[in-house]
Amino acid sequence: METLKARIRHVPDFPKPGILFYDITTLLNDPGAFRDTIAALGAPYGGAGIEQVVGIESRGFILGAAVAHQLGAGFVPIRKPGKLPWKRHREDYALEYGTDGLEIHDDAMRQGQRVLVVDDVLATGGTAKAAAALVRRVGGELVGLSFLIELQVLGGRGQLTGENVSAVLQY
Ligand code: AMP
Repeated sequence: METLKARIRHVPDFPKPGILFYDITTLLNDPGAFRDTIAALGAPYGGAGIEQVVGIESRGFILGAAVAHQLGAGFVPIRKPGKLPWKRHREDYALEYGTDGLEIHDDAMRQGQRVLVVDDVLATGGTAKAAAALVRRVGGELVGLSFLIELQVLGGRGQLTGENVSAVLQY
């Protein structure tokens, strides 16, 4: 895991002052690190009968689609408002300043399908909590949430009590 950590670039003050951004482009372009990352994201759920992997826009698409392929599951996108063309559900959540939203297609999955949510970073947990609510809103059975990076000091896990949460790398 230290080799994966070494592939992640830390960019201070991006996208705004005071934020330390965890840039995974330097991991994605390393074939071995990319492969190991996908294997590690899917490993805790290998025998869990996952039928749909849900990826959160936009880095969750890159990781989630590859994890879905590895687990033999389908892939479902959760997107920023205004991007999905069909009937959809929306969940709003608080940001540091203001609110944001996420959307999922109404027919994204069949009732009771077993779902894994994938994203790159678990920070305050607002994004993941909204994603979990959307999965349930469309009838999915949420089996777990898998993150590449958990920023423990921000307490995102506390937003996800009762859920199965796993993280490949913790900071
Ligand atoms: P949060 O809702 O606070 O848990 O934020 C999680 C979402 O914001 C994820 O989709 C991440 O891609 C992104 N994110 C939050 N903090 C960072 C960070 N320090 N570096 C990179 N991405 C981040």
